[in-house]
Amino acid sequence: MVRCHGADPQGLSRHRARGFGPAGGFPINKLFLFVFSLFFLSGAASAAALRVTGLQLGLNAGLTRLVVEADGPLNGSLSAAADGLGLVLTLSQARWDAAVPSSRAAGLVAGLGLPVDSAGQVSLGIDLVEPAVVERAFRLPPQGTVGDRLVIDLRPADPQAWQAAFAAPVSLPLAGSADILPPPPVSPGRLRLVVLDPGHGGQDPGAISAAGRYEKDVTLAIARAVATRLRQTHRYRVLMTREADRFIRLGDRVALARRHEADLFLSIHADSLAADRATRGASVYVRADDASDTDAEALALRENRADQLAEGAPARDVNEVVAILLDLASRDTGRLSSRFAGLLTASLGHRLTLRHNALRAANFKVLSAPDIPSALLELGYLSNPADEALLFSDAGRAELAEGVVAAIDRFFGVDDR
Ligand SMILES: [Zn+2]
Repeated sequence: MVRCHGADPQGLSRHRARGFGPAGGFPINKLFLFVFSLFFLSGAASAAALRVTGLQLGLNAGLTRLVVEADGPLNGSLSAAADGLGLVLTLSQARWDAAVPSSRAAGLVAGLGLPVDSAGQVSLGIDLVEPAVVERAFRLPPQGTVGDRLVIDLRPADPQAWQAAFAAPVSLPLAGSADILPPPPVSPGRLRLVVLDPGHGGQDPGAISAAGRYEKDVTLAIARAVATRLRQTHRYRVLMTREADRFIRLGDRVALARRHEADLFLSIHADSLAADRATRGASVYVRADDASDTDAEALALRENRADQLAEGAPARDVNEVVAILLDLASRDTGRLSSRFAGLLTASLGHRLTLRHNALRAANFKVLSAPDIPSALLELGYLSNPADEALLFSDAGRAELAEGVVAAIDRFFGVDDR
């Protein structure tokens, strides 16, 4: 874009001064002018390009951060690599003039390729550990000895979100603070409502640990810890689908959130695997008709079974509760859910052990609200001694609660940069 040059004439003049050196003192004759003009013309092409002077990779509150430094404001794009799980960063009207970064793997980035200068732009391959999308990409002006910077923050994404995000190249910097804007601000005087859904309860204990402890107790304790912290911020109202050891049908959990017009719905669970004490770590799920993998599909089947334990009248099917509302569903709900789940994964990964590919998708009934961004957090595995100890400790619960609140703040745009 032409704009990037006009915005920083100093950057170009600095470059020109270095590139051409002092011209005074030379005899001025036709030959020199000819040679000089050739030099100038060839130099003009590179003078039009910004010099990329640095590249850094690191972590910022769980998000994977890439910082590109140049002698002027950069424009570019991120697109999906032609093969494999990767991205290509393209910096327009730029040329590489920096050392190869010392840190070439961090967070979601498995490796950085070597920069390639071609046709007045720089391309750089980025191999990913798991699917990632741009949470935000913004410029920072020069400061002290540091030049203009383009900052790109990546967050984890479920496979569908990854595909949708890079159906076309993503322009950098992003116009807004995120590829998906946060939900619209609430009217003055109204706090956003977060509904926390502690899984299971009453006659349904959920998963059971090796030591005989119940999922329904862990989920309630963590939901309480999250609720307390959320209320302490004075930024949210909090409603829990159950405050005590009660059985609640899945459809009623969704209906409660809808009735109160929740801004966010978070269902909290913990898993257990028979005959597998090794698997551990938290994972986060969004709803999808097609599961991201067989593990996620099996988990959704286990969690959806909760209603079979209902006593008395047959359970009101969750599909009945929401079917009538489906035509009202905002297409953005799925994207917002996915964004929240990505932020939650990043925030928890910053603090705790996560499963590999921690952000997954499956057909969870409790995530069926068509108009409320919803995610399901699996805290860990009660069948794993380390996870069990963590989930039944005050310190572990505090860390989890803090991670959840940080993700909610970021989702609603409270936490900026
Ligand atoms: Zn559960």
